[in-house]
Amino acid sequence: MRIGIGYDSHRFAEGRKLVLGGVEIPFDRGLLGHSDGDALCHAITDAIIGALGKGDIGKHFPDSDNKWKNASSVLMLKQILDLSSSEGFEIAWIDSVIITERPKLADYIDGMKQALSQAGVPSGRISIKAKTNERMGFAGREEGLAAQAVCLLVPKEK
Ligand code: MG
Repeated sequence: MRIGIGYDSHRFAEGRKLVLGGVEIPFDRGLLGHSDGDALCHAITDAIIGALGKGDIGKHFPDSDNKWKNASSVLMLKQILDLSSSEGFEIAWIDSVIITERPKLADYIDGMKQALSQAGVPSGRISIKAKTNERMGFAGREEGLAAQAVCLLVPKEK
């Protein structure tokens, strides 16, 4: 089996949609990024890439590639899940956490799990948590938010 860790952060910006875990969340700002800025998807994607030993998200999806400009990050995750499958692995478990002062995310967690299962994350094999940063640091000052994920891959059942 293989384990991987992923971390991502994005700056809040006006005039952008806030998308986390493939779900659009009502808020006065969104996340700045080449893609849709979905930090949770990026952290999970990087955790899977790490478990595969295949570099990092920037290697697979460079910001110089216009294909991913404002693209849904769920599509990046799907591409990496396909890579994982072709390497002979399946997801045993993903645990993740979003660190943000606002907005409150509890009501959107189930929707995120559903959106990620549509991307190919086996349903019932992902945990998504949300917490504040106790008003400390960049997340505490609401300059942006961060996400962390770990992923355990196991050989696919034959
Ligand atoms: Mg990112």
